[in-house]
This record gives sequence, structure tokens and C-alpha cells, in this order.
Amino acid sequence: MSTAQRKEYLAALGLESWVSRRGAQAPAQPSEEPRVAPVPLAPQGAPAVIGAMPPAAPREGAFDWNQLRARVAACTRCALSATRTQTVFGVGNPQAEWLIVGEAPGAEEDRQGEPFVGRAGQLLNSMLRAIGLARAQVYIANVLKCRPPGNRDPGANESAECLPYLEQQIALLKPRIMLAVGRIAAQNLLRTDVPLGRLRQQVHSFGISRVPLVVTYHPAYLLRTPTDKRKAWDDLKFAREVCARVQR
Ligand code: URA
Repeated sequence: MSTAQRKEYLAALGLESWVSRRGAQAPAQPSEEPRVAPVPLAPQGAPAVIGAMPPAAPREGAFDWNQLRARVAACTRCALSATRTQTVFGVGNPQAEWLIVGEAPGAEEDRQGEPFVGRAGQLLNSMLRAIGLARAQVYIANVLKCRPPGNRDPGANESAECLPYLEQQIALLKPRIMLAVGRIAAQNLLRTDVPLGRLRQQVHSFGISRVPLVVTYHPAYLLRTPTDKRKAWDDLKFAREVCARVQR
């Protein structure tokens, strides 16, 4: 990626004025290649794995993409099926190396049937571009396929009913890396209640195939708290490094 492009993408992320952490006296200046935090990788290049846990056994049989999409579209496993406009299955390249997992569709996603198409989606696109990924290169899905009314947090039973669909998507996609955006996605995927701040900057492992999983902030949170965009940028670079070292 050229310096000019990187600058443009960082600007889109709201990170055009880079302030060095090395000294408060340092003048604010743009940085094309901010310092990359050391990635705690095992000597052979295998990611250091934290909290490896097998996923719940999928209750569905093995489907192909079309069959799975049809199952999701017809799903009535929880009460959200009564209030949704449509299910939001996921979008992207079925050969993608990166799987981005969010929480649940919002109003715009419920209307359009595609994840991350609202303001948070615009920021997610910029975040991905900042590490050299076009939206069309990755796969994007949510823990929940239906919108919780009023954008409330998913209920425990809603997540439990819906997660097997995501697990099947992961089995079909076989991603090289997963990026969980936000607390709800991270805690559901890792089956933990550890706060998001303590899940960042580690390589977790998802499922029996032990897909490396990195956690960062949700773009909707970053829209409300732009001061944390810097940390999200650190997470993205961290994930990019992890991905580069994963052996398939
Ligand atoms: N927030 C999410 O977590 N997912 C979406 O698809 C949109 C907003």
C-alpha cells in the first residue's frame, strides 16, 4: 500500500493526527507506519493461544452455503423472528481469509438484509481499508441474524439459538483469522464474561479448528468514543500480524 493511500485510510479512520506515545513533547504528526506492538507468537510462528474452547456442538447438519442461508431465512428458533424485517445472513467472499464478527443487525441492516451497512459499517470499512483490506475481500457476519428490537443487547437464549448458524458459516469459510468487533461478539464467541479491554491484544482461539481470534472495539462504540480509535488501530495491526503468521 502506498504512503498516500495509507494516509488517506488513516484519515478516514479519524487518525490523521498521530501523537507519539514515546514522549508527550513529540509534535503531533501523521504517521504512515505507526509502531506495531510486539505480537506474542510462539517460536515456530504459531499464534500464542489463550482460552481455547471448543464451540457448542452445532445442532444443524452440514449444509452448503445456499442450504444454510435458506435455513437462516426460515428460522423461527427465537422471538426475534416475529419482529425482524428479514434475516441478515452475512456478506462477503466465501473464500475470505478474514471473518469479521459483529453483534446483531441494526435498523439499517434489518432493512437492507446486509450486515454493517449503517454508520458503524462505514467506519468498519475504513478500519479494514486501513489494514489494506477491501470490504469485498473479507466475510462479515453477526452473532445474531435478526435485529433485537430497539437495538438492545442480544438475550442469552437468542445468542444460544443463533450461534450454531455462525459456527456453520465458520466451518464453511475456514477463515485464517477472526476479528470479533465489540464486547457482545467477543464474549459470545469466547464464552466468557471477561471485559473487552482485557480480551484485546491477545490471540484467542475459536473452536475445534482453533481459528486465531483477535478482539477489538465495535465501530459503533468508536463513533461514540473516537479517543479509542487509536487502540482499535493497534488491534487491527495486531490482527494483521497474527494473520501473516498463521500457518494453514
Ligand atoms: N452492528 C453490528 O454488530 N452488526 C451489524 O451488522 C451492524 C451494526
